[in-house]
Amino acid sequence: REHSDVVRGRLAAIVQSSADAIVGEALDGIITDWNPAAHALYGYTAEEAIGQPLSLLHPLGDREEIDALLAQVRAGSSIGPFETVQRTKDDRLIDVAIAIFPVLDEAGQIVASCGIARDISARVAIAKALALSESRYRAVVESQSELFCRFLPDTTLTFVNEAYCRSFDRPRDALLGTPFLHLIPETVREAVQRRVAAQVAHPGRTPYEHEVVLPNGEVGWQAWIDTPIFDNDRRLIEIQGVGRDITEQRRAEVALRQSDVRFRSLISNATDVITILDADGVVTYQSPSIQRILGYAPEDLMGRNAFALVHDDDRDHTWATFQQTVEDPTLAPSIEFRFQHADGSWRWLEATGSNLLADEAVEGFVVNSRDVTERRRASEATQRALDAAHAAHQATGQFLAMMSHEIRTPMQAVMGYAEYLLADTVGSLTPEQREDVQCIHRAASRLVTLVKQLLHFSRLEAGQMELDLAPVDVAKTVEDVRQDVAPQATAKRLALQIALPADLPTVLADPMALYHILLNLVGNAVKFTDSGSVTITARMAGEGVEIDVCDTGIGIPADAIPYIFQEFRQAEGGLRRSHEGVGLGLAIARRLAELQGGRITVRSEPGEGSAFTLWLPIASLSSPPD
Ligand code: ADP
Repeated sequence: REHSDVVRGRLAAIVQSSADAIVGEALDGIITDWNPAAHALYGYTAEEAIGQPLSLLHPLGDREEIDALLAQVRAGSSIGPFETVQRTKDDRLIDVAIAIFPVLDEAGQIVASCGIARDISARVAIAKALALSESRYRAVVESQSELFCRFLPDTTLTFVNEAYCRSFDRPRDALLGTPFLHLIPETVREAVQRRVAAQVAHPGRTPYEHEVVLPNGEVGWQAWIDTPIFDNDRRLIEIQGVGRDITEQRRAEVALRQSDVRFRSLISNATDVITILDADGVVTYQSPSIQRILGYAPEDLMGRNAFALVHDDDRDHTWATFQQTVEDPTLAPSIEFRFQHADGSWRWLEATGSNLLADEAVEGFVVNSRDVTERRRASEATQRALDAAHAAHQATGQFLAMMSHEIRTPMQAVMGYAEYLLADTVGSLTPEQREDVQCIHRAASRLVTLVKQLLHFSRLEAGQMELDLAPVDVAKTVEDVRQDVAPQATAKRLALQIALPADLPTVLADPMALYHILLNLVGNAVKFTDSGSVTITARMAGEGVEIDVCDTGIGIPADAIPYIFQEFRQAEGGLRRSHEGVGLGLAIARRLAELQGGRITVRSEPGEGSAFTLWLPIASLSSPPD
């Protein structure tokens, strides 16, 4: 008995000092014992609690649940520990872990029950916070388009988010527990492994990029930032990676680099010199072609003002053009100027500039120049030759005019005296003498005609010919011409036929010029025809009149046709000529026709004959030029 007292006393002391609340109750649920820890937990003193039903601590004061528990205890079983919520004296709800067990008397009868309760609010609160933060983390991570994963130092994946699964087109289960190295091309696996190892050895947030094998088998790019995760002992447990797909960006970069390389090689191999200037004319880029063309190494010119090497005489206008284009980028001028070669000589450059100062890719003024020194020399030589030719031509014209005049005057005297002799006023000439004088007269008259032509031509050439345009009757002019050539035609037994329509309108022409043209055409026809006929016809053609002069003569070779209208050109050239003339007639005729707004054309068949056609505008439809 004494022993049991000792035991009881010891037990009571334990109960009193327990950190857990210990509550004894009778089998009907009335509280019988209440230790200080119960006081501290629930707020009720022992006096307040003892004698109250256990439902005092139930959050809703519900008896039934407690009765069910007590019934189990009465049946002999211990319950718990289980976690539940209880109510304190000041109406707070607290999380507790409770164990309830039966209390036996010495005879082994269940006489009461005892509950032990421990406050677990703090732990529950932490667990709840943890669960909340975990779910928040998940929500955040899953909603990201960014890729998230966590992995062990051997790259075994312990967590992947939706985006990660999507980017590799694999379900989460297929990824978790496997090393992500499998998702990386074999060629770069080792490098990535080294990176992870470095991360483990020297943890820190480090960004890096690597290739991955995309679901379609193509190689893509991902950029990752890894953060190590440590346990409380600063031991690395996992690495967390946040990544994004940069495949497109990488491809664009590669394309850019390729085009960059392409352009660079284009520029390096260009025959043109390509220079980039800043807004002050300082060279910021110089293509290597400068070496070949101007003798400088590209780096010789870098940082120098390009205009310093432009010839003094060309600098002002070159600089002004540059300035204009700097101000107005829409201009793209092309100019020529002299630039000093590295050897000190001057080279002519032809340069085009485009203002790309605002262009992000260039930020400069791009000048393309090429050496045109040879071209300049050639064109200067051509110009000199042209000038000389022009001067010679003018001198020839002046000479012709002067000579014509000088020859005509004495020739007029020769003809005058010949005519005087032929008029037979002084005495009789013998028939032989008369024939000789006639020869002199014919030759002199030919010479006068020739000189007249020359004079005519030189005036035409000098643009000194003035024409008086007026309505002219074609039939009348044709008749004048017929009378002039009739003697030669008759002498050669040629039929001279004229067939003009009666209603032919007048043409707008200079009467003398028209006469001159027709005389030339008909004269040639007679001259180059030995047998057959010369026919003159005319008709309306458009707003003008066409006059045809056809013959059955020797014709003109096709290859000579382009030349016969040129001065001093004849179909049968050289000394083998068998016909009179110097080749001026058609040249004059064509010019006269053109001066009157008309034209002369020709068709010819060697051995068959020729047909020259003069077209002139009709008078009624045309208004005379001022
Ligand atoms: P030319 O003073 O020689 O007659 P033209 O200028 O009148 O000069 O004619 C140039 C050349 O055109 C002639 O020399 C001749 O070779 C050729 N020609 C002109 N008219 C005829 C024609 N009706 N028949 C053949 N050849 C002609």
